[in-house]
Amino acid sequence: MRQRFTNKTAIITGGSRGIGMATAETFLEQGATVIIWDVNEEGGQAAVDRWKAAGQTCLFQRVDTRDYEATLEAAAAAHQAFGRLDILINNAGITRDSSLKNMSPEQWQSVIDVNLTGVFNCTKAVYPYMAEQGFGRILNAASIVGIYGNFGQSNYVAAKAGLIGMTKTWAREFGPKGITVNAVAPGFINTEMVTTIPEENLKAMIQHTPLRKMGEAQDIANAYAFLASDEAAFITGITLSVDGGLVM
Ligand code: NAP
Repeated sequence: MRQRFTNKTAIITGGSRGIGMATAETFLEQGATVIIWDVNEEGGQAAVDRWKAAGQTCLFQRVDTRDYEATLEAAAAAHQAFGRLDILINNAGITRDSSLKNMSPEQWQSVIDVNLTGVFNCTKAVYPYMAEQGFGRILNAASIVGIYGNFGQSNYVAAKAGLIGMTKTWAREFGPKGITVNAVAPGFINTEMVTTIPEENLKAMIQHTPLRKMGEAQDIANAYAFLASDEAAFITGITLSVDGGLVM
């Protein structure tokens, strides 16, 4: 495997399972030092122990991305441990689906807190190190529903659409410091998150997808790896759909 990320560190939020874990494994294979920030301590620590036993350099930090102080402390400790913070993948996300009619203010707020404020917190905590280095890659987990909307997801769609806007804003603000900021908009990806979608809806979605299948976590990990690599050095402010052609 090509060593795209030798001497690079990558913080991956929500890396204890799903897309985040596939992304962590892809970056490790390509030479990165990987730092997982997740509330799922058991899964995250077990993964890090496994990767360390295989000779990889990695660290698990229990970070609730909603907690700004915790992100500041974790960023400082990771920088202290490895000397650089090069890549931030804002992947942690949750769903609390319901039509607007039935959505409680708590359902609304919990998704905004993780999917939008969490990304603000992590980026604000890591940005100063990247600016100081004069190099950084920030990648945000959007979603195709942040582009075209979705029934029953006012909270999630608002957060993902907000992320797409923040991506463009940060691309403008951070570009002069050598930091690129991009988003990836996955379609329907085969992880625990989609187990909450009724089977009939999933089947219909696959029928509407030109490639006639759900994506795998690896498809998204590959997009992150490209956007974090030197090959993508002149790409900033974009939202890359990885959805089998579902939205175009
Ligand atoms: P997932 O399997 O549910 O994994 C998300 C991870 O984030 C879990 O380990 C979760 O911990 C962690 N997490 C949740 N809240 C957190 C917090 N406040 N602080 C730190 N970590 C937190 O999700 P996924 O399917 O891999 O999706 C990853 C990202 O891609 C999300 O942003 C999602 O919105 C986006 N996405 C996914 C799809 C899809 O089809 N799967 C499509 C479009 C976009 P727990 O295990 O404790 O909950």
